[in-house]
Amino acid sequence: MTEPLRAIALFGGTFDPVHFGHLRMALELREALHFDEMRLLPSHQPRHRQSPGVSSAHRRQMLALAIGDCAELTLDDRELRRGGDTYTVDTLEELRAELGESLSISFCMGLDSLLTLPRWHRWQRLLDLAHLVVVARPGWQLPSQGEVAELISSRSAPPSDLRRLPAGRILLREQTPLPISATAVRQLIARGQSPRFLLPDAVLEYIEDNGLYRTAAASDR
Ligand code: ATP
Repeated sequence: MTEPLRAIALFGGTFDPVHFGHLRMALELREALHFDEMRLLPSHQPRHRQSPGVSSAHRRQMLALAIGDCAELTLDDRELRRGGDTYTVDTLEELRAELGESLSISFCMGLDSLLTLPRWHRWQRLLDLAHLVVVARPGWQLPSQGEVAELISSRSAPPSDLRRLPAGRILLREQTPLPISATAVRQLIARGQSPRFLLPDAVLEYIEDNGLYRTAAASDR
């Protein structure tokens, strides 16, 4: 039998702010799929959705506080450092150039993000560079027709393929996500209510110290 490939996973998002839904999902994926690394990858300015409500520096800092000393999760802030519009395809090309062709790369996302895939820059190239690991989220259904449905039916694969091939497969995970969203966290803060127990205390403290998300405009994104 051939040796399994080294496998790294990326969990992309705006993390505006990071919450326990993101952190649990990233950790559970890493453990369930035996990734060698799980990197949280904050995007600077995603073109397919509204810009984050707070600066990249704040979002990076909140992620660093959230991860703390958790050895299973790391922060990859290349998209923030690159600046400008964030295109996942650029990030994956950069990582391939850095890490080589034989390593397995998985880009993890919630089902809500997968549904927007056809609006991503050069989206058809993504599967040349990485696998997609897609996790169900409450309230979101798999599409029955259209480009995303076709992609799922032609590329779906078992978990073992993630360590056998460097890229090109879609893995659908039935993993129960915590029903938390950054939108809900921002709305609570804007209404003067507490988001405590939805995100790490260190992140909440940072939000309070810096007066983030207090206006309704910041909560509507
Ligand atoms: P917003 O409410 O601002 O849209 P969000 O909570 O969905 O934010 P993002 O930063 O947009 O967070 O999401 C990053 C990734 O995390 C996406 O792939 C998204 O599907 C996933 N995600 C978000 N919340 C959860 C959750 N509670 N459980 C699992 N995955 C989640």
